[in-house]
Amino acid sequence: RVRMEGGNHIASLPKSEQRAVARKLRIEQKLPRALGEGAIQPVFQPQVDMKTGKIIAAEALVRWEDRDLGAVSPAELIPVAEDCGMIGALGEVMIEAACRQAVYWQQQGIGIRVSCNSSVREFRNGEMTARVRDILARTGCPASLLELEITERFAFEAEAEEAIMHQLKALQEEGVSLALDDFGTGSASFRYMQTVPLSKIKIGEEFIASFPTNSKVGKIVDGLVRFGHSLGLTVVAEGVEDEAVWKALEESGCDAVQGYYTGRPMTVAQLTERLQAQS
Ligand code: C2E
Ligand code: MG
Ligand code: MG
Ligand code: MG
Repeated sequence: RVRMEGGNHIASLPKSEQRAVARKLRIEQKLPRALGEGAIQPVFQPQVDMKTGKIIAAEALVRWEDRDLGAVSPAELIPVAEDCGMIGALGEVMIEAACRQAVYWQQQGIGIRVSCNSSVREFRNGEMTARVRDILARTGCPASLLELEITERFAFEAEAEEAIMHQLKALQEEGVSLALDDFGTGSASFRYMQTVPLSKIKIGEEFIASFPTNSKVGKIVDGLVRFGHSLGLTVVAEGVEDEAVWKALEESGCDAVQGYYTGRPMTVAQLTERLQAQS
């Protein structure tokens, strides 16, 4: 629930904050119905292999366009869903939609992996493994076509770290791959990297944007790529917006990119068209 600290009444807040609180409440109120009605849907952003130029995976990103609220961005939506206990339901909608999509593409002869973001709260009470298993069974999606993205926040937010680790291992053993999102922007817990069976790291856009022009950032990115490779991981750079960044990343040996330069988050129809054109 959206809570007022210290028992303050909403009227005692500045106008702009009142509006923000009111909007949060509206989001919270409308969320269950939006999830049930299919108003909350993923768009997909391609991940492009740097060597072949082909799309090898697509990340599902949540989108919600409401008649009254307008576009509710992930930055607004995810924290509310987490706070009001709806993040599990949201994750379920997203993973199921992504799996259905992967099956559809597979039926078209296009084998690409779909990847979904997950919040640490979705792993509460050991629920995540069962949820993912059910979705895979009900959609007929092979586990190998699904990837889950977790962030470094998992490492220090997790009050039940061992239980979460257990679920991550179980998912990986079933064939779901795990990617570490926004690598380098959080707490970079190397202990965590040693225990989670990752197959991919994604370098956050915060680093990538100034990569070609800032020599220090350049060295950091080169180092992150080498670090990932030395652990046998695929390295993906996020937030690649232009050719200069692509070229610099090519030199660093980065495996794949995800960014506006190679494709914005797009509808299924748009991505299907691109996938058909490349095959
Ligand atoms: P993320 O997982 O790191 O996703 C990448 C974000 O960067 C996306 O923002 C994407 O639209 C944006 N982006 C992609 N290419 C570029 C680029 O070239 N330049 C710049 N400046 N940005 C680019 P989006 O869609 O607003 O999502 C924001 C974050 O919200 C995601 O970051 C992810 O952490 C979270 N999120 C999105 N969907 C879900 C979801 O279904 N569940 C959960 N738990 N979190 C989600
Ligand atoms: Mg992500
Ligand atoms: Mg990211
Ligand atoms: Mg990000």
